[in-house]
Amino acid sequence: MTNNTNHMNTIQHPTFGQLKRAFLESGFEIRRFPRQELEGLALDAPEHSKRHADSNIMGLIMPDEGVIGITAELSADDQVETLVHELIHLYDEELPEDSVEDMTEEVMLTLTPAQHGFLRFLVS
Ligand SMILES: [Zn+2]
Repeated sequence: MTNNTNHMNTIQHPTFGQLKRAFLESGFEIRRFPRQELEGLALDAPEHSKRHADSNIMGLIMPDEGVIGITAELSADDQVETLVHELIHLYDEELPEDSVEDMTEEVMLTLTPAQHGFLRFLVS
């Protein structure tokens, strides 16, 4: 059977509900940090903390503190996107960084206004 479908480029990303559940079950708290402080925390963070290939660190998961750090200087929309990125890491810790990047874009496209509003509330 050939893979001749319209869904060849569709990425299997987690749903909003799955990300929300992963967040609630983690018990993590979302905190905003000035960019410089977050970069410092990333340098100090243990090996298993989630860091990102991009040198401009926008978000960081700190498992020991139970904190998801988000760069405070980002626009509200970029904070939401950063949070989605971190929640995908939480949802599946084994995912490679570029898959998380792709999935973040896909999830952002699927968000309803209410879901987007919920995430905005979380980072406010
Ligand atoms: Zn990442």
